[in-house]
Amino acid sequence: MKKLGLIGHPVSHSMSPKLFSDQFSKAGRLELEYLTYDLPEISDFNTFTANNPEIVALNVTIPHKETILPYLSEIDEEAQAIGAVNTLFKAEGKWKGYNTDGWGFRRSMQPFLRGRHERALIFGTGGAAKAVAYSLKLLGIAFYFVSRTPDNQRDMSNVIGFHELTPEAIKHHLLLINCTPLGMEPAIDGCVQIPWQGVGKDHLIVDLVYNPEVTTFMNKALDKGAEVMNGCDMLRLQAEKSWDIWLKNGL
Ligand code: NAP
Repeated sequence: MKKLGLIGHPVSHSMSPKLFSDQFSKAGRLELEYLTYDLPEISDFNTFTANNPEIVALNVTIPHKETILPYLSEIDEEAQAIGAVNTLFKAEGKWKGYNTDGWGFRRSMQPFLRGRHERALIFGTGGAAKAVAYSLKLLGIAFYFVSRTPDNQRDMSNVIGFHELTPEAIKHHLLLINCTPLGMEPAIDGCVQIPWQGVGKDHLIVDLVYNPEVTTFMNKALDKGAEVMNGCDMLRLQAEKSWDIWLKNGL
């Protein structure tokens, strides 16, 4: 039996075990098992992997996508450019990191993009926000990050605080993307605080959260007539890309 899994904190509400066990069955790979591993501190990564030598591949989620980097022997080019990793493969005892979030995000949102979506606001500055920013650059879409702690993001450019958002700024940016965990199960009432009077029917609202399928953020945007999408397609696509990477590595 080879083990694969998801590390992060919390991981209990993740859909990944279901997605991957379906994938393993489809591929007839019944010797593979995918589990969630709650790992509150990334400093425990080396001990965790040493104690679980049967684990050959991992996904990484909140809050470790960036802090995992120093524990890896090699980092693929796109993950390096993004500065975050969500997929790991172990070869000869060493871990290599990849990022499939950017790819999943690009593929999932392309059908929704219109010419008017030239400027975006990315809510959050974590690993997922960085993968989204990388993808927007590739798509030629200008953006600002919006953070609750803008003064702590000195290593990043284009960061403003939520308190600086005005209705005019919201009207000027027709693509709004939630890359914070606000609204995720079990705290489903959570939502970014923005001047909603600026949101209208020309907006595309993207929530990377996929559980629940319709978040409070999406519901508020629907009330304003905006188009909305959740993180379900991105989740499926980034998982498919992780699977491809593992197969290419000889899983
Ligand atoms: P992360 O690296 O921990 O970053 C979280 C970001 O959210 C940080 O910028 C944090 O701000 C901000 N934040 C947290 N609580 C906040 C609050 N109450 N108000 C305002 N900002 C807040 O996490 P991540 O890996 O980027 O993931 C973020 C979300 O995206 C998660 O819900 C995750 O499930 C989802 N996601 C979905 C997919 C998908 O396939 N659909 C893929 C990746 C991620 P501070 O820096 O100020 O703490």
